[in-house]
Amino acid sequence: MIVEHTPNMVVRPARNVWSAVRRGLRHRCPNCGRGQLFRAYLKPVETCSECAENLGRIRADDGPAWLTVLITGHVTVGAALTMEMVHPLPVPASIALFSGLTLAMALALLPRAKGVFIGAIWAMGATGEE
Ligand SMILES: [Zn+2]
Repeated sequence: MIVEHTPNMVVRPARNVWSAVRRGLRHRCPNCGRGQLFRAYLKPVETCSECAENLGRIRADDGPAWLTVLITGHVTVGAALTMEMVHPLPVPASIALFSGLTLAMALALLPRAKGVFIGAIWAMGATGEE
């Protein structure tokens, strides 16, 4: 239920941020948790197929990429440095191993990070429209 406060201000009921973030992490609609969040790898649906929530207006911008790089960088650099101290590999093998790990992690994390950001943005009502 939306309660109008003044002509320019709309007060919405509180939304659970963590619930919306968990649903986004699973590529589900942050509102109902049943509808798909993406229609392609990183392309969100315009409206939820289950509850008709308008999701196409939410702009995550570069937040998902930032989170993906943050996590992937810490894991792969930590793993590479640990491997170098414990069991050093030849340089070409190390480059191949950690490049592949970095690529796989980035591709796996990016849509999940975008789901997290869309869920959080939806829960806070900050769509970026204004
Ligand atoms: Zn929904």
